[in-house]
Amino acid sequence: MKIDLHVHTAYSEDCWVPLEAVIEAVRKSQVDAIAVMDHDQIEGALRLAEMAPFPVIVGEEINTQRGEISGLFLREWIPPGLSLQETMARIREQDGLVYVPHPLARDVPTALRRRHLQAIIEQVDILEVFNARILRQADNVAAQEIARQRDIPMAAGSDAHFTREIGRAGVELEDFATPEEFVQNLRRGRIFGRPTPYLFSIATCGLWYVDKFGHLVRRAVTSVSRPLRT
Ligand SMILES: [Zn+2]
Repeated sequence: MKIDLHVHTAYSEDCWVPLEAVIEAVRKSQVDAIAVMDHDQIEGALRLAEMAPFPVIVGEEINTQRGEISGLFLREWIPPGLSLQETMARIREQDGLVYVPHPLARDVPTALRRRHLQAIIEQVDILEVFNARILRQADNVAAQEIARQRDIPMAAGSDAHFTREIGRAGVELEDFATPEEFVQNLRRGRIFGRPTPYLFSIATCGLWYVDKFGHLVRRAVTSVSRPLRT
């Protein structure tokens, strides 16, 4: 199966794609499954896992005191703002997997920096070595090098904030029934993906600011961004 391991929904403050539109986009895409990784939210992922006719891994991209890490196969929400260690402990408590999204990405202010990644590297289950949205491909390559050196399973995701981005990156792997099997199969998986045009990232920054300023121009921006999705 092909799975995009990093997808946002309208439950993220910088994404307005409703769950129904995510389902439609996955159907049209080249992937068979997704992991939902909303920022500091889990509700959309839980709901989508019930609604979707395809497998959905429930994840959360969590802002910690040192940057973002994600949990996969979660059952319960983990609050942002905790230490890295506490956040990882909460992921483990629910038998989840520790996934580091866009490690070292210089254009992502919340990305985990090298020294913080090194400090927790022994506890990382999966490293995202291709994120379709980051601007400098060298940062993806640096993440791949760390994963190889440390023998950490590699993953990829689109980091989609618009429907057209869903499925742009991911991993092709054998079917799995448990988180343990998922990690094992990732080791033999094939990463695929192509970078997202910068315009999508810029549009997302726009959405974030609009959200912060009280939804005032939501309608206007939605109509402007619509041509991007066609
Ligand atoms: Zn993300």
